[in-house]
Amino acid sequence: MKIFAPKETDTIETRAALDPAAVKKLTGLGAEVVVESGIGDRCDHPDSSYEEAGASITTDRSGALGSADIVTRVRKPSEEEVALLKEGAIHISFLDPFNEPELIKKFAGQKTTAISLEMIPRTTLAQKMDAISSQANLAGYVAVITAADRLNSIFPMMMTPAGTISPAKVFVLGIGVAGLQAIATAKRLGARVTAFDVRAEALEQAESLGAKALKIDLGETGGTDQGYAKELTPEQLQKQIDAQAKVCAQSDVVITTAKVFGRKPPVLIKKNVVDSMQPGAVIVDLAAETGGNVEGVTPGEETVTENGVKLVGLANFEGKVSKHASQVLGANFANMIEHFWDEEAKIFKLDLEDDIQKGCVITHGGEVVHERFKD
Ligand code: NAD
Repeated sequence: MKIFAPKETDTIETRAALDPAAVKKLTGLGAEVVVESGIGDRCDHPDSSYEEAGASITTDRSGALGSADIVTRVRKPSEEEVALLKEGAIHISFLDPFNEPELIKKFAGQKTTAISLEMIPRTTLAQKMDAISSQANLAGYVAVITAADRLNSIFPMMMTPAGTISPAKVFVLGIGVAGLQAIATAKRLGARVTAFDVRAEALEQAESLGAKALKIDLGETGGTDQGYAKELTPEQLQKQIDAQAKVCAQSDVVITTAKVFGRKPPVLIKKNVVDSMQPGAVIVDLAAETGGNVEGVTPGEETVTENGVKLVGLANFEGKVSKHASQVLGANFANMIEHFWDEEAKIFKLDLEDDIQKGCVITHGGEVVHERFKD
C-alpha cells in the first residue's frame, strides 16, 4: 500500500501529518511511504530526515494524491483535491464533518473512504490514535505559556528582600484534555489556579492537580456516552455566567477551553465581565477558532479592550509547538494504520462493523455510511 502525506497548504498550519518517526513505523509495516517535498519545513524536519526514515520525496502533489491508497494529512482537503483521489483510496484527516456536508458528499461521490480524526471514539482502545486529545493536550500547554508571556507580571510567588510578590491567579474554564494540561502547566509555573467544568468528574480531576474547583449548582447537566458535555439550558448558562463573574474579575489570567461536541462553543464570558477585569489581565480563548467562549474575542487575533484586558484569540495553538504536535499526530496516524494493518496482505483492513471504524469512517463505497451524517 502506498501512503502519501502532502505538505499542508493553509498558511496558518505548521504541523506535518507524518514526522520521520511515523514514517519509520509505517515503512516497518511494509508500506510504501511518499511525502511531499517540504512537508516538514515548519516543524524542523528536512526532506533528508524523511528519506533517512524510509520515505520517498515527491514534488508531484497531484500525481501522488491520485495514486495513493492512503492519504494522511492534517487539515481537511479542498473539493478539488478530493476529486484527484482514486476510487477506493482511504483519506484520513481532520474533516470538521458537522460543518462540511458538501465535502462529505464529494468524498462519497469519489467512492473514497473518508476517516475523520474528530470522530475517533474516546475509548481506551482508540486512545493511541486520538488526535483530538494529542493536540488539545499541547494546546493547553501553549495557552498558559502564551498567557505568561503576555502578562506584565509573573506566575509564581516570590519572597524577596524587596518584598513578596503574590502568585498569579489563573482561572481555567472547561476541564477537558486542554483544560487539565492548562491547570498542570499553570501550577508548575507557580500560579494559584481555580477551575470550572459542567462535568463533576472533571472538577475532581482539577482538584487532584492542585486547582481549586469552583462549585456552581447547575442541576442536571448530563453528558454523552463518549464523555462529552451536553449543551446547557439558557437558564443553566445564565446561572453559570453569573456565578463565575467574580472569579473572572479577580483573575490575572483566564483560559477558556469549553466545547460542546458537534455544536458551536458556548459564550461563557460576556463583555460586562471582561470590562470588570483588571487592566493587564489576559484572556486566552482556545475555542476562538470555532466561535469562542468569550464575547469580543477576534478569531486569529490578539486585541486589547478599552479597559486594558488582553484578549488572545489565536488559532492553532498546538501549531506553536509544531515539532511535538507533529510527533504525536504522526504517532496517532501510524498507530491507527498499524491497528488495522493486515500483516499478510500488507493492507489497511476496512471493517465497518469494527467499533472504532464505525465511529470515524464517514464515507465508503460511494455512500455516506456514518449514522450521524447520513441525512
Ligand atoms: P471538549 O474539547 O469537547 O470540551 C472541553 C471541556 O469543556 C469539557 O471538559 C467539557 O465538559 C467542557 N464544557 C462544556 N461546556 C462547558 C461549560 N458551559 N462550562 C464549562 N465547561 C464546559 O472536551 P475534551 O477535552 O475533548 O474531552 C471530552 C471528554 O472525553 C472528557 O470526558 C474526557 O475525559 C474524555 N476523553 C476520553 C478519552 C478516552 O477515554 N480515550 C480520551 C480523551 C478524552
